[in-house]
Amino acid sequence: MLQNVCILGATGSIGQSTLKVLAEHPEQYAVFAVTGFSRLDVLVQICQQYQPKFVVVPKALQDQLHQACFEHKITQTEILTDNAGLEYVASHPDVDVVMAAIVGSAGLLPTLAAVRAGKRVLLANKEALVMSGDLMMQSARQSQALLLPVDSEHNAIFQCLPESYCVQPNIEHFGISQLLLTASGGPFLNMGRQELAAVTPAQACKHPNWSMGQKISVDSATLMNKGLELIEACHLFAVPEHLIKVVIHPQSIIHSMVQYIDGSTLAQMGNPDMCTPIAHALAWPKRIATTVPALDLFTQHRLDFQEPDHFSFPSLNLARMAMKAGGVMPTVLNAANEVAVDAFLSKRITFTAIPEIVESALSRIEYSPAMSIEHILAIDAQARQIASQDVSQKGR
Ligand code: NDP
Ligand code: MG
Repeated sequence: MLQNVCILGATGSIGQSTLKVLAEHPEQYAVFAVTGFSRLDVLVQICQQYQPKFVVVPKALQDQLHQACFEHKITQTEILTDNAGLEYVASHPDVDVVMAAIVGSAGLLPTLAAVRAGKRVLLANKEALVMSGDLMMQSARQSQALLLPVDSEHNAIFQCLPESYCVQPNIEHFGISQLLLTASGGPFLNMGRQELAAVTPAQACKHPNWSMGQKISVDSATLMNKGLELIEACHLFAVPEHLIKVVIHPQSIIHSMVQYIDGSTLAQMGNPDMCTPIAHALAWPKRIATTVPALDLFTQHRLDFQEPDHFSFPSLNLARMAMKAGGVMPTVLNAANEVAVDAFLSKRITFTAIPEIVESALSRIEYSPAMSIEHILAIDAQARQIASQDVSQKGR
């Protein structure tokens, strides 16, 4: 039966890869709703090609989109705006699958709306889960939403776990000893602190293996991406932080591994292309074809592994500390990081100032348990304010 898909963040890197996968299976999936934030030209082109029922943009762009739709003779698509529009499409009764691919904390409420509505939610927007952690997992259990990981590492782990793990996520029951989260190391692997202080946003956004949005590219370069992924994995798989080890694997061929108490290590491998985890999460427990070429082990001669350098890349341990502390601390970590990455991208602070700003925010906001989504949003705002003050001080 045809499944209706809502793509939150359709104009982004994950959004575009999702549309590519859907376009290869028009008999199985229809694009029901798409959302964008600033790239109107891309959004208009998507509406022309896929004819969704709804498109969501910020209110400030509504008139412009209206005009563009008129000029391109797009008549079948209704325009909605802002968070109300995002939440409406994410929880629409006709929607079967929601791709959560908005970047950063802006994705929290719409992703949560999809989870609360009991959808099949393909989770790319890791920041939403980092912020809301147990609350989102609880909501998913209550609504029986199917929260499927799109992040390549988590998708790999999911593929290496027994199928019934998602019904009963218990590492002891299934004899799991450890999760190995692989990391490419980003564009600055093996660089020292001094060299890192001088890197530019353009260099940080040039990832050796993956083509991604700017924010996650910078996160990959600082290793904060792996830190966020560590927190994401703790929640998705109900695994304590100390049983998740990060392994630098520069070729990005093994996307992550699960170790079992009998000495087995299961790995999921493939060429680094997000269409694979997207297709997996869309069709699970079935499989659908993609255009990603199969791995050719004769051309891939080496698989290397090394320990992360925590001195030059302190972000990973900051995330570990935040997860260990629990409560609102991961929300603080995420908010301060978003502010710092934004400041680095607009050249207001250096690359090495990013973890300093995150560390400072973590030390200035006291631990408290995360009581509700409103509480999390208030802490997010507080951490942003503190981090913004730090940015202006460092920028001087
Ligand atoms: P992009 O920057 O390429 O895309 C982000 C999307 O979010 C765009 O559609 C953008 O709209 C929209 N957006 C940005 N800000 C807002 C806002 N305030 N409100 C509503 N929508 C907004 O990012 P990616 O596709 O790379 O990443 C998306 C998410 O997926 C991130 O959380 C990332 O960590 C995660 N992820 C990405 C991977 C990748 O390979 N790219 C891999 C694993 C996870 P517009 O473009 O119109 O401005
Ligand atoms: Mg990842």
